Amino acid sequence: MKTILVVEDDPAILRGLQELLTAEHFHVLTAPTGTQGLMLGKKENLDLIILDLGLPDVNGEDVCKQLREAGVPTPLLMLTSKSQEMDKVLGLEMGADDYMTKPFSVRELLARIHAILRREHAIKKDLDEYAFGSVVVDFRKQETTRKGKAVKLSVREYAVLKFLILHEGEVVTRDMLLNDVWGYETFPTTRTVDNYILALRKKLEGETTTPRHLLTVHTAGYKFVK
Ligand code: CA
Repeated sequence: MKTILVVEDDPAILRGLQELLTAEHFHVLTAPTGTQGLMLGKKENLDLIILDLGLPDVNGEDVCKQLREAGVPTPLLMLTSKSQEMDKVLGLEMGADDYMTKPFSVRELLARIHAILRREHAIKKDLDEYAFGSVVVDFRKQETTRKGKAVKLSVREYAVLKFLILHEGEVVTRDMLLNDVWGYETFPTTRTVDNYILALRKKLEGETTTPRHLLTVHTAGYKFVK
């Protein structure tokens, strides 16, 4: 069962969405404030977040930004109340996957939700196997080859690589990696991340001075390019 978090301060809309999505066989979590939305968005394993732009405490725009900065990759559907806010959602490129303007039709909303979930499924499926340069990675079997020869990666190296690939072309900060791959159970330093990247470069690119795929972005972090 897919889990959807709805962050909405209007109790009638929140209740309406909860009933609608539950009837559609989704597991629904709700948050009436941006603060609670952020907490649940970071903590829970979600398939989708439906986020109201106009919230009384932390507005939807900041919730969205903070989730993305924390490395939360969950797809996000933004609800806006006025048509002029649509431009804002699109123009700011705050990291939402789609948006709908209130009042919205239930059928349209469900269509959008299913479209986003289908897209996510396709991305995740694609990532079972991934090829770049002379490297072929099978994330499901945790097997990797470079120039046809087997390369051994640790479970955590697979996790780091997968996170970078899922954010292909984007700057990934050390904090995002620490947050996603290490979580909070251990206390690694950002230096740990650097060592993992070095190890991955050595194994997958053969050299570490002029990487072509696992790039360093000065003072910001790393970027994977295919
Ligand atoms: Ca609102």
